[in-house]
Amino acid sequence: MSTNPITVAAPRFDAEVESLVLEVLRSGRLAQGPYTERFEQLCAEMAGATHAIAVSNGTVSLEIAIEALGLGPGDEIITTPLTFAATINAALRSNVTVRLVDVTDDFTIDPAQVEAAVRSNTSAVMPVHLYGLPADMAAIGSLCAKHNLAIIEDAAQAHGATFDGKPVGSFGVGSFSFYATKNVTTGEGGVVTTNDDEIARRVRILRNQGMAAQYEYVMIGRNARMTEIQAAIGIPQLTRLAELNAKRTSNAEALRKALDGAVDGLVVPSAVDGRTHVWHQFTVLLPQGAPRDEVVAKMRESGVFPGVYYPRLVHEYDAYRGHPLIHAEGEMPVARDVTSRCVSLPVHDGLSAGDIERVAQSLLDALR
Ligand SMILES: *Cc1c(COP(=O)(O)O)cnc(C)c1O
Repeated sequence: MSTNPITVAAPRFDAEVESLVLEVLRSGRLAQGPYTERFEQLCAEMAGATHAIAVSNGTVSLEIAIEALGLGPGDEIITTPLTFAATINAALRSNVTVRLVDVTDDFTIDPAQVEAAVRSNTSAVMPVHLYGLPADMAAIGSLCAKHNLAIIEDAAQAHGATFDGKPVGSFGVGSFSFYATKNVTTGEGGVVTTNDDEIARRVRILRNQGMAAQYEYVMIGRNARMTEIQAAIGIPQLTRLAELNAKRTSNAEALRKALDGAVDGLVVPSAVDGRTHVWHQFTVLLPQGAPRDEVVAKMRESGVFPGVYYPRLVHEYDAYRGHPLIHAEGEMPVARDVTSRCVSLPVHDGLSAGDIERVAQSLLDALR
């Protein structure tokens, strides 16, 4: 039996990536060139958006999306505490108030709670398509239209996911990450997507030191450019995105088949009608009271390395507790339950059917 370690992410690059990166090195042009343009085209296709603007990472893409919408002190964004810190950090960077509401049992923001949390200074809703599953964009779209709110999609984990056939990143201003562990990676990288010409223009300016043309500074910008090497690493993965997501989906189906109903109280994730899940993570909830640390430790001993995303609600870390710009609506019972029971199992496209069997068996053994 093979005992190679099975981890939640294991980026691999083929000969095409190697040759594209070499082409960039030999071209002598390392920034703002044809590879970045091609990367942006492919990202626009992925998101079904007219514009895609590549930036240095996914956190910066959230920050610039917020800046391009003109949000600042006094504005408020509604999002969830079941997310990576970047979601919150991006808003705080612009001194925007963050109002946190609970999620539903699909792990994405609860539209009913959003509706209840809207107030006069609310400017935007920032759904997180957590683990690769789109949030309920029909409900969010209609409540945002009703209250005249912008939508900023944190699609860092959801490359190619769709809601009612529409790709994420096309419902508002979209933000994707290409960090090393994401479904598509450039090492570090990000992209902002939008159908709005004016937002796209502002994002391009903000990314490039606030310049509308060379040395014509019209906004206070920054350097958030992507390199040609990053773009070259991403291009072949984007052209194969459907295939990569299909492999994740079949791995997720195999995990579901092996685990659903196998242990009392174990909650196994499923796709949701009308939404395509791209399985950035396959996150189960352990039975109530199961000792998660021990379960994870046992799995690791068997060579399977699950993740815990996320072990705490983000606003309850020291960095955020009592922050004047962070407001939590109530106790977040659903998200809190998730943080205490969640375990994300390896599901990525590099895993074989045999690997997936080992992952499922490892969890079952650890729970017995
Ligand atoms: C990864 C991630 C980000 C940030 O992306 P980076 O490229 O790491 O800066 C933001 N939001 C979520 C939900 C993420 O998973």
